[in-house]
Amino acid sequence: LVKGTLSNIKDTDQEIDAFNNLNDRAVEDAKAVDARGIDANNILDGIPLALKDNIVTKELPTTASSNMLKNFTSIYDATVAKKLSDLGSINVGKTNMDEFAMGSSTENSAFKTTHNPWDYSKVPGGSSGGSAAAVASGEVPVALGSDTGGSIRQPASFTGIVGMKPTYGRVSRWGLIAMASSFDQIGPLTKNVFDNALVLNAISGHDDHDSTSSEKEVPDFTEHIQDGVKGMKIGIPKEYVNKLAPDVSEAIQNAAETFKKLGAQVDWVSMPNSKYGVTAYNALQTAEASSNLERFDGIRYGYRASDAKTLDELYIKSRSEGFGDEVKRRIMLGTLSLSYDNVDKYYKQAAKIRTLIINDFKKVFADHDLILSPTSRVTAFTIGVEDQDPIEMYMNDILTIPANMAGVPAMSQIAGFSNSLPIGMQLMGKPFDESTIYKAGYAFE
Ligand code: GLN
Repeated sequence: LVKGTLSNIKDTDQEIDAFNNLNDRAVEDAKAVDARGIDANNILDGIPLALKDNIVTKELPTTASSNMLKNFTSIYDATVAKKLSDLGSINVGKTNMDEFAMGSSTENSAFKTTHNPWDYSKVPGGSSGGSAAAVASGEVPVALGSDTGGSIRQPASFTGIVGMKPTYGRVSRWGLIAMASSFDQIGPLTKNVFDNALVLNAISGHDDHDSTSSEKEVPDFTEHIQDGVKGMKIGIPKEYVNKLAPDVSEAIQNAAETFKKLGAQVDWVSMPNSKYGVTAYNALQTAEASSNLERFDGIRYGYRASDAKTLDELYIKSRSEGFGDEVKRRIMLGTLSLSYDNVDKYYKQAAKIRTLIINDFKKVFADHDLILSPTSRVTAFTIGVEDQDPIEMYMNDILTIPANMAGVPAMSQIAGFSNSLPIGMQLMGKPFDESTIYKAGYAFE
């Protein structure tokens, strides 16, 4: 299986460019699993999978698709990587992404652009575009991504697969190269809802290495997955269906009808503060990212400029040469948002907006089980079009950011097609209630 997977990737990836690095030792790893005997009760035993290139492993370099970390190999395995390999799954490679997970199209990678398997002229979404394209093209059945403002769900939507951003704290972030630590979560990208639930079970749970990982018990997400949606209450926020492409709007109306036919109650709700999400996210996320990226100083990790004469020059040259434009833009914005003169004006105001958004969710979840919306206002866009305009690119995340702001779980899955491109819908749930999302997603599928 692993040999076949690797040879298939070598063919397919000539057009898709989903992978940054393939694991030369994958076949040996698989042989070791064979030698101890496949455990039929362990559904992940011997299964090939891929990791986004910001999840560290000892076996392969972890680059975050940045020249800064081009030659970096970790001395330890991320908790999620360790959990999966302890279960016998085989990491076949690391997938391309927007540099340091900053972007919505995977065009910000320092190395290459990944192509959408449905149409090679389109982006796969981002920042986990490599993981999404690898699953959608059939290269691997499972890949992990990370989601700070939509980076699992939007690429899942653009490539027609299932992507889950779990509740903040559900999955350990130990070994995930941090972007914005109060938002980042790791989650699975898969072809269907059931596989997604299986993989989330495998990676969830408390980890002593990550104090933000929750001690809450992890239920078996597949146990009630077939129970259906009868009696469930699903709200559609009216603010989330503004300015949709007509085909997306129609797909969401159809999804609402399907849920009704399946026995759920579907009605309109209001989440009036969501419209401030992108603006507040930009202040908070850049602030956190600018601090997290301080460690890349040319001394401790990664790229070091060769011709610096003083310490200051070493920092400046290493960072100027190692980081791409989007990363620099965010470091500058974040530093501005945190600076003495501006912290009250930007950072603290944004933190207040975050609370308003959390309260919007609480109000809706007081009498609803789930929130339904599109994942993105549009289907996959053409490579090279939006990367000229950062503001336009930031607006891509308007429907996904609120779930990160509030830390609630949210999943994207396919709701329809338009011009041979998939349309994604998003289901958001109460904190730590991924089970209900999976139940509804499974019934819909
Ligand atoms: N597209 C968003 C951004 O660039 C989200 C990124 C992410 O979730 N990692 O910030």
